[in-house]
Amino acid sequence: MSGDVCIVGGGLAGAALAARLGSRATLLEREAGPHDKVCGEFLSREAVLHLRALAVDPLALGGHPIGRVRLATGRAQAEVALPFEGVGLSRRLLDEVLLRRAASSGARIQRGQAVTALLATGPVQMLRLQDGRALRAAQTVLATGKHDVRGWRRGRGRQNDLVGFKLHLRPAPSEHAALDGVVELMLFRGGYAGLQRIEAGQATLCLLIRRQRLVELGGRWSAVLAAACEDAPLLARRLAEAEILHRRPLSIAGIPYGYVAPADSAVWRLGDQSAVIPSFTGDGMSIALHSAALAATLLGRGARPDALQAAMCRDVGIRVVAATMLSLCGVRRPLQPLAVLAARLLPVLVAELAAATRVPDRALQAALAAHGRRPGLCPGPAGAAGPRPLS
Ligand SMILES: Cc1cc2nc3c(=O)[nH]c(=O)nc-3n(C[C@H](O)[C@H](O)[C@H](O)COP(=O)(O)OP(=O)(O)OC[C@H]3O[C@@H](n4cnc5c(N)ncnc54)[C@H](O)[C@@H]3O)c2cc1C
Repeated sequence: MSGDVCIVGGGLAGAALAARLGSRATLLEREAGPHDKVCGEFLSREAVLHLRALAVDPLALGGHPIGRVRLATGRAQAEVALPFEGVGLSRRLLDEVLLRRAASSGARIQRGQAVTALLATGPVQMLRLQDGRALRAAQTVLATGKHDVRGWRRGRGRQNDLVGFKLHLRPAPSEHAALDGVVELMLFRGGYAGLQRIEAGQATLCLLIRRQRLVELGGRWSAVLAAACEDAPLLARRLAEAEILHRRPLSIAGIPYGYVAPADSAVWRLGDQSAVIPSFTGDGMSIALHSAALAATLLGRGARPDALQAAMCRDVGIRVVAATMLSLCGVRRPLQPLAVLAARLLPVLVAELAAATRVPDRALQAALAAHGRRPGLCPGPAGAAGPRPLS
């Protein structure tokens, strides 16, 4: 094995760390090639800045700039400028570009290699691969996202009963225009759906629904979609003449929203292995990239894994908990019209909540500055009407 750090998982967190460590890193990714992921594909400003620090520009990749959020439930709607600008970009493309970036920095990338077991009791750690081989590493990094390696299961979150679905679609021309520069958040009984444009004239629909409601709907995707469209007619309009690009949506269950890993001195945990923020914030990717930047600095200093978890608790812990409280309220039907009303009457509240559920600027600046780059922070135009290029 070349390098002393073995990274398990080649999503954003794992690939970003590999790109920063270069020849110190070997990355094992179980998927052999580009693949879709259950993700709303909204990159927050913090995520974009982390990516740019790694010489990956989501806008240059064809991503769609987003500066507003439209909240809808029943016939009620409210549109608010975000306090920052984000970008819609597919994970199929982004993760691949980042993996290539890691390879070009000297990291050893092994695709189609699932880690099935990890023994981490002494100074040298043993990883078992699906093909029966074993690898040794001085440091192991778990960056397996929503999936746990056997024996290294995460604990429960504060909201564990949501099931996620995701698909790509090509909106009809009029709906395509209506989605210009905006992410739509549509609330329905037992869940919510996010819709936004990404590259190549496509859009991402990502939907979360409580397990109990899913059971009531017979567990069928068609019934879920019909129920969501009935409660949120805006969704019905967007989908009416859209070309759905997947035969069936991708899905995921058992997401431990609100989870923040306890300090662990044996292995490093990045991204969703470290903290899981509710999807409506559109900040999971930023947290994944943030954890990678922190881990690269700490590994460079010879620190232990628990130092990373302490830093993650400091930077995002309370934000993850606050966002989960909001998420628990957001899936309750009686409260949903109140959310739209509040956004209409107090748009500044939405901006405040959006800011309160993301990686704070000082933490972002510190993480990036540690790698010798001062990020060109662009404080978003609170109150600006539309998107503008990220500086
Ligand atoms: C429904 C939903 C919507 C979301 N929407 C957004 C959004 O709009 N914006 C946002 O910022 N965040 C969003 N998120 C969160 C975001 O997707 C995650 O926070 C982010 O993907 C975490 O990155 P990661 O690198 O930790 O994990 P992942 O991106 O999940 O990557 C993990 C990688 O590890 C690999 N892997 C897994 N197990 C093994 C193994 N045993 N061996 C080898 N490889 C393995 C996987 O194949 C995968 O490539 C959403 C999440 C969900 C569930």
